[in-house]
Amino acid sequence: MGERPSENQGVDAVLARLDGLGAQHLWVQYADYNGRSQGKSVPRARFAEALAGGISFARANLGFNLTDAQAPDTGFGADSGDFLAVPDPAALAPLPYAPGAARAIAWMRRDDGAPWEGCPRSALLRQVEAYAERGLSLRVAFEPEAYLFEAGPDGPRPIAADGMFTVAALERTAAFLQAVGGALETMGVEVEQVAPEYGPGQIEINIRHAEPVKAADDLITLKDAARAVARAHGLVASFMPKPFETIAGCGLHVHLSLWSADGGSAMAGDEDGAGDEAPHPSGFGPTGRGFLGGILAHARGLCGLGAPTVNSYKRLRPGSWAPAHAAYAVANRSALVRIPGASRRRVEFRAGDNTSNPYIFLTGLLAAGLDGIERGLEPGSPAEGDLGHLSPAELAAQGIILLPRTAGEALDAVAADGTLLAALGPTVGGEWLKVKRSELAIAETVVSPWERETYLRG
Ligand code: GLU
Ligand code: MG
Repeated sequence: MGERPSENQGVDAVLARLDGLGAQHLWVQYADYNGRSQGKSVPRARFAEALAGGISFARANLGFNLTDAQAPDTGFGADSGDFLAVPDPAALAPLPYAPGAARAIAWMRRDDGAPWEGCPRSALLRQVEAYAERGLSLRVAFEPEAYLFEAGPDGPRPIAADGMFTVAALERTAAFLQAVGGALETMGVEVEQVAPEYGPGQIEINIRHAEPVKAADDLITLKDAARAVARAHGLVASFMPKPFETIAGCGLHVHLSLWSADGGSAMAGDEDGAGDEAPHPSGFGPTGRGFLGGILAHARGLCGLGAPTVNSYKRLRPGSWAPAHAAYAVANRSALVRIPGASRRRVEFRAGDNTSNPYIFLTGLLAAGLDGIERGLEPGSPAEGDLGHLSPAELAAQGIILLPRTAGEALDAVAADGTLLAALGPTVGGEWLKVKRSELAIAETVVSPWERETYLRG
């Protein structure tokens, strides 16, 4: 892997780097199937052992959902043993908010050191390698949105409303955003820009593009850092997709581009205009069109991987700035896939949110794109109009279908998509589905205050 030169670094070199950082504690961490960072801290005296052989975690940890309840049908029972979390030297960083500590994101390995089939990060690497075999590399950039809350008498409430996108909102959050930016820089994550978003106290942090595994690592790093820095500022940073019915949701837009070995865009059309045909309205050449066509062909399953919780579908509503339709469009923010920018070199997938595991979500996106390239799928014409405000007849005239409307539909769409499941492998794909379905089953039993207000009549 061209961009992961340090992966083969010897233990001594990594130890020297950790000593250079003044690390007395090494947090060895991974993202669980829900996308949560999990880890253990190793003291200095055990660094060499941890770096060489990894540290063990119960496989059972991966059978739990976000309520910390175990999926009843999990394959990771009490008898399922351990995996080894082996630090990736390419994902080592100091922890500015935990002085004296560094962290390493880990590969999940078997006892013999081979990749474990339950490791989502390894599933993503397999996709990257499949592209490399075709002479293609990828750049990925995540754009997470979040709310900043402060303590209120009835629980957390968004910090004061300054008006959407205002400099006043930027000023109010400047100390927090600058502290997060500083922490990320120290941790090797490049930030493109930070912005106040639409909702009161809502922010967006745009991470600079990177190769896919680093891009997913960087998102995990950003979320860990933002939460830690918020706590130090007496705030709560939450990436929940839709914290309130009536204010903007928090998305996780993903920008993806393809590059050839010569460094040129593999997405763009033939710019010197060979042939007499008019350029495709996407502006993409055959590879870019196949990639886009693949993402559209697998749109409903990808929506499930990127937006897998009951709260996700409170966000993905027509006319909400979050997409509800499986279509692509040029510049248009109402579509699932947007082709931004005049240069037409990338796609932005807009359905995902921060309840996803970014390795699993990206594995699905890359597998869908590759399927489209291999089958020469065509994306058709871009959608026209503000899709959230078109009538069913107008949508039908453009051949546009809806994304899943509920988490149940979304998880069924993942279960029905053989390409996505094959890319994840039976262990990650199958067990992820069980975990997310078990969480949904709990959510479906909850009686909301609205239900009591509406149906509890004497
Ligand atoms: N907050 C919107 C969402 O939930 C996105 C707004 C934007 O276009 O940045 O996806
Ligand atoms: Mg935004």
